[in-house]
Amino acid sequence: VKPVIGFLGMGHMGLPMAINLHKAGYRIKGFDVVPAAVQAAAEAGIATVATGAEAATDVDIVITMFPSGKHVLDAYREYLLESAKPNTLFLECSTIDVAQAREAEQLAVDAGHRSADAPVSGGVVGAEAGTLTFMLGAQSEDLEEITGVLEHMGKRIVHCGGYGAGQAAKVCNNMLLGISMIGAAEAFVLGERLGLEHQALFDVISSASGQCWSVTTNCPVPGPVPASPANRDYQPGFAAALMAKDLGLAASALEHTTTDAQLGSLAAALYRKFSDEGNAGTDFSGIINAIRDGSL
Ligand code: NAD
Repeated sequence: VKPVIGFLGMGHMGLPMAINLHKAGYRIKGFDVVPAAVQAAAEAGIATVATGAEAATDVDIVITMFPSGKHVLDAYREYLLESAKPNTLFLECSTIDVAQAREAEQLAVDAGHRSADAPVSGGVVGAEAGTLTFMLGAQSEDLEEITGVLEHMGKRIVHCGGYGAGQAAKVCNNMLLGISMIGAAEAFVLGERLGLEHQALFDVISSASGQCWSVTTNCPVPGPVPASPANRDYQPGFAAALMAKDLGLAASALEHTTTDAQLGSLAAALYRKFSDEGNAGTDFSGIINAIRDGSL
């Protein structure tokens, strides 16, 4: 028999993920603090409950997809851990601070449960299509059970290590992504000023040593990569506010580990500024416009 799943946090990501589990035949107890989200889930055929505590009661797995680590820790402390039956598997899929993730996992284990962190990449499109990538921090003995559930929401599951390893991998990847996008944007702006056509510079970078996802897939100038957000006035894609959030988590991890990563810190500050100055909903590649006009 399939495990019963308590699913909390049915926002942009959580709802389509829960829908995919529902379609795969899982019995779900869905909950969100926002009534409209609960209603959307009910309309999709998901059984919903009236409180977060109920969502964790008499289930085998509790999945959380919350905005931040504070939401996760508060819910764990206030009602989730005490409502769940012993040995429930807590599968935390939000993107949160590595230290908070480890704290949440310790709380779960201390309360007699099992725990894993499984943040995702792939965005709303990937959540809807069931093609997310999960970065998994989990104990080896839980892997099979976890994979059996995650495979209905994603197409790639990378086991990165024990508690917190999934969040750690995600924060490192996104720090590099933020840095590389700023680098790509600076290269294209410099190219413009040196009289280079976008296509000519793209043709070189995409087959030379500067090659990276920020150029070949999410190219910050319109033209060379027709599907990149630059071709639709920088509609996301991956919104600058989310990049600013993830780089904030990177900055926190840098501080925690006393790591001297100057570009990561600078990328965090630049994306925070870009997002706060009216570009929260712009694709993160739109930072090229702020670089071009010198407003960063
Ligand atoms: P969202 O704000 O749309 O959804 C979060 C939901 O959690 C909201 O509906 C909110 O009401 C609900 N919530 C908060 N506290 C709750 C509680 N105690 N009980 C029940 N529900 C609660 O955010 P999202 O875009 O779905 O992102 C969720 C997480 O996934 C974030 O951590 C984000 O960083 C990460 N993420 C998002 C994307 C993306 O493209 N949106 C991509 C990868 C990862």
